[in-house]
Amino acid sequence: WHTPLTIFIAVVVRFSFLCLNEINLFFVLFCCPQYGIVLDAGSSHTAMYIYEWPAEKDNNTGRVEQTHSCKVKGPGISSYASDPKKAGQSLQVCMKEAERFVPSERHEETPLYLGATAGMRLLNIENSTASDQVFQAVSESLQKSPFSFQGARILSGQEEGAFGWVTVNYLDDRLKQVCAVDMDCSGVTTGALDLGGASTQISFVSDAFDGSESPNNSVNFRLYGNDYNLYTHSFLCYGKDQVLRMALAHQTKSGPGSISDPCFHNGYSESKNYMTLYNSPCVSKRKPVSSPADFTHVGKGNFYQCQELVKSVFDFTQCKYTQCSFNGVYQPTLQGPFGAFSAYYFVMNFLNLTDTSVPLQSVKEALARYCSTPWETVRTLPHPGIKLKYLAEYCFSGTYILTLLTEGYNFTSETFSKIRFIKQVSSDAGWTLGYMLNLTNMIPAEAPDTPLLPHA
Ligand code: AMP
Repeated sequence: WHTPLTIFIAVVVRFSFLCLNEINLFFVLFCCPQYGIVLDAGSSHTAMYIYEWPAEKDNNTGRVEQTHSCKVKGPGISSYASDPKKAGQSLQVCMKEAERFVPSERHEETPLYLGATAGMRLLNIENSTASDQVFQAVSESLQKSPFSFQGARILSGQEEGAFGWVTVNYLDDRLKQVCAVDMDCSGVTTGALDLGGASTQISFVSDAFDGSESPNNSVNFRLYGNDYNLYTHSFLCYGKDQVLRMALAHQTKSGPGSISDPCFHNGYSESKNYMTLYNSPCVSKRKPVSSPADFTHVGKGNFYQCQELVKSVFDFTQCKYTQCSFNGVYQPTLQGPFGAFSAYYFVMNFLNLTDTSVPLQSVKEALARYCSTPWETVRTLPHPGIKLKYLAEYCFSGTYILTLLTEGYNFTSETFSKIRFIKQVSSDAGWTLGYMLNLTNMIPAEAPDTPLLPHA
């Protein structure tokens, strides 16, 4: 009883189902935005970033935008060394948030990456088993999400610096400029200055540096048809939290009891624990053989003395190259405008010192006034959302930043004005966007399928 009409109807119905499936597939693949998620597992905290870009563009060249970020509650994953499971659990709230911000039909093909930086580099040096266990726990936790988990790993300092540079230049739209043959394009990029809690990175394109003098500081990229020879260096232990440990260790070495610290405000007084202070490979070798459990950390609020103290954490005595920044590390002459982000921004923004038209000398004077403000005044002024710990440390942090930039990297009053302190340019400045752009092949070289892993 299959009449020609019923056969015709069956064929039409079947065909339209096929079409619907294909239309649906087409819709998902080509019409809707695509997404990528990166977790930045820093030394003091973890943050999740969701990126979105149009799917229809050829060679994935559509603009990538950050659509959402989520700050993980609690400390960085390296702090969970004694209870790794908790590191995994800590990520769950942000991952649930990601499920709401990425449309469900996109979950399965959305790549999810976790990159850990200097906090985990230090834990790995100190206790590689604990570091492996933390990675195991976060990986298990992320595998449970509906996204396409691509792995959790420690970024090298070189990668962290180079991807931070890619982000800043991508956000500034500096990478797509067409360069004629034999034309020097290096002047049009922005250098990247990144300050974390456990390490700090400097990366910039230098005409004077072809990598031969110090190959470890050289990264070559080919992006949108242009070659970039990047100078990059990451100083482990020179993030602001570890430098604070070094400065305190320097002061406590003269004996137990109380220390009078010029980098903290007059009137500040806190009891601190020796074990906690020396619990880091950045200072553990300096631990006194016998010391009491606690010491009293007293502030005396003097910027100039603080600067002298901070200088003592740098070694300027050795350099086997034509020129160095500090600790015997090669650095070519600074070149270009710079973008300074992460803790550079948090600190300078709090201190109201992000205005590039203010000369370096005035910045120092403003910081000197701030450091000499009594703790009672600083503490009681309204600072919505700022933790007391940060408040107590801004004098130290600001002094460290100025010392690192001027004495460490050799910024002068003239070149200091070329530093822009940035948090966001449509997306947050940091290594995460550059990392994702690389791993998803979103910035084509001339051969669009070649990933741009930095190579020495
Ligand atoms: P990391 O966790 O390694 O990425 O480092 C971030 C650094 O920024 C740490 O030293 C934090 O203490 C610091 N930080 C984060 N937020 C603030 C803030 N609001 N004020 C001052 N420092 C901050």
